[in-house]
Amino acid sequence: MAGVAILKLLEQRILDQADIFGTDVLKVDMFLNHQIDVELLNEIGKEFFRLYSESGINKILTVEASGIGIACITAQYFSVPVVFAKKGYNSNVGSDIYTSDIFSFTKGVSSKIGVSHKYLGQKDKVLIIDDFLANGSALTGLIDIVRQAGAFITGIGIVIEKGFQPGGRLIRESGIRIESLAVIKSMVNGNIIFG
Ligand code: 5GP
Repeated sequence: MAGVAILKLLEQRILDQADIFGTDVLKVDMFLNHQIDVELLNEIGKEFFRLYSESGINKILTVEASGIGIACITAQYFSVPVVFAKKGYNSNVGSDIYTSDIFSFTKGVSSKIGVSHKYLGQKDKVLIIDDFLANGSALTGLIDIVRQAGAFITGIGIVIEKGFQPGGRLIRESGIRIESLAVIKSMVNGNIIFG
């Protein structure tokens, strides 16, 4: 399936099956965040591979929990391992863990994420994958960890970016490539507009 087809498929699934909570939270439990449509994820993985296949990626990084499935399916196309940042470290973790603090958009709490020094280092060319991009805190934490490890950020792959929130703009302005498969321009009064 070519790029445009998966984008249209994803947009249609969002229109048909997503629920809007409050003004800015999109629930896609039907196919991405609770029940998982593996065929759709396969197409998403293929698309990330099409976009980044020339980049020499040797590792995919995500954050638990909802990024893991997407990252694993995507990794099959690149034949590379997935590393996921674990959540819930306390402040006195060992010195062999890179840590960063993130603020959860959906839960409204801060938490520490961490990756062992064993699984990320200077030789790594990293593709960061996540399900959503909102204010950019999760990505900023992952970028911080990649930089602490001395690894190279090749780019970022996001399934759904909420373009009316600032994360995407801020991270692109820092010079990092972000490819978002569906970008939501607005979701006012139950109307989801892509753009
Ligand atoms: P950010 O850190 O960019 O503010 O938010 C991204 C993270 O919060 C993602 O890892 C995702 O799990 C969660 N998130 C942000 N916005 C939404 C949303 O509208 N729906 C869902 N299901 N998760 C979201």
